[in-house]
Amino acid sequence: MKFPKQWQSAVDVIAKIENAGYEAFIVGGAVRDYYLQKDSADVDVATSALPHEVQAIFSQTVDVGIDHGTVLVLDCGEPIEVTTYRTESTYSDHRRPDEVNFVRDLPEDLKRRDFTMNAMALHNSGQFVDLFNGRQDIDAKVIRAVGDAAERFQEDALRMLRAIRFSAQMDFSIEENTLKAIQEHVKSIKFIAMERIQVEISKIWTSPNPVRAIHYIQWAKLDDYLPGEFDAIEWEQVQTANRQVGWAYFCLVNAHDVSLLSVYRCSNKDKQFVKQVLHAYEKLQNEGWQRIDYLQFELDILQTAHLFATWQYITPTIPFEQIEKMKHALPIQHKNELEISGNDLLQWTPKKAGPWLQVALQAALLAVVNGQISNDKEQLKEWFHAFNNEG
Ligand code: ATP
Ligand code: MG
Repeated sequence: MKFPKQWQSAVDVIAKIENAGYEAFIVGGAVRDYYLQKDSADVDVATSALPHEVQAIFSQTVDVGIDHGTVLVLDCGEPIEVTTYRTESTYSDHRRPDEVNFVRDLPEDLKRRDFTMNAMALHNSGQFVDLFNGRQDIDAKVIRAVGDAAERFQEDALRMLRAIRFSAQMDFSIEENTLKAIQEHVKSIKFIAMERIQVEISKIWTSPNPVRAIHYIQWAKLDDYLPGEFDAIEWEQVQTANRQVGWAYFCLVNAHDVSLLSVYRCSNKDKQFVKQVLHAYEKLQNEGWQRIDYLQFELDILQTAHLFATWQYITPTIPFEQIEKMKHALPIQHKNELEISGNDLLQWTPKKAGPWLQVALQAALLAVVNGQISNDKEQLKEWFHAFNNEG
């Protein structure tokens, strides 16, 4: 197998480290993806050289995490993360090693990794270092902990959720002993920060098979420790590359409970998106979308709400393709295109500013969007006087 083009910088970095008399390999997820002939987002390099030795080899480096042995090398094109082989000591808090020790021995570094498929190294020559039969497990589509599964989850409880997330992303099953160990250790997920849990769950939402992950979550009773309901039936139709869409749907199937987003430490931007989508969904469900809704919701919000109806086995009266057409057919595309402002209204009446202004502007907007009057200042002025007299 030839290395992918994007790896050229990493290959150059490895060659330079070797020239200086140390070992270096591609490690982790990139090796797994290479074996699967899948593109990998980032390539990690591990080396026997200590961080200061790496810094001495290259002229442009940034120490991004020198305590953990990571140096970013900028000399060879793309920035490459180079991490010194390390072992991790005891984990008294179930999430982080008490200390990290640098070592010169590759097997020591591979041993601390989570799953056999993630614990391989690849040499520039194309040779694999595969001490735990990672390739065999990949062939069998199995996720297996490196070493004693129970011990590994005891050390770092996030690994349980990582196993489940990989199962959804790769459509692999979790090996029996590994799965049993998850079931026995679910409780310790409470030691893991919600931010990190959120990252893994986001990857489940955007995976090709979220149902697979939810089955594991239910089976292991991990959901006893994760806020919200994880109900596989609700997710049968779900397919999305967008994590916000996943979180919005999670809230939807949890009685529209947006407060879950705070619990999972989602951003304010996520919350805004989710609120909009749920609002649009509720309108679609109740009275159906009116012209003003097509104006007030962005296209992606409308499309997401429509998608949710489909995922809920509901057929909306309007077909998906029509949404964009409906939006474009409106006399204006955004409420700020309305030809009048609050100032205009104030000039046309002796009344003082007050809440009535918003009411009048919204009524004008509605009249324009519904095609009752055109978006023209003179016409709007006439309309306003009539509106004022009525009110
Ligand atoms: P992804 O494609 O999602 O990035 P990845 O396998 O590259 O998957 P990363 O989180 O980028 O995952 O981690 C890189 C490597 O570091 C993993 O392949 C694994 O060898 C190791 N690793 C990461 N997290 C853990 C962990 N919690 N415990 C043990 N090893 C880990
Ligand atoms: Mg990675």
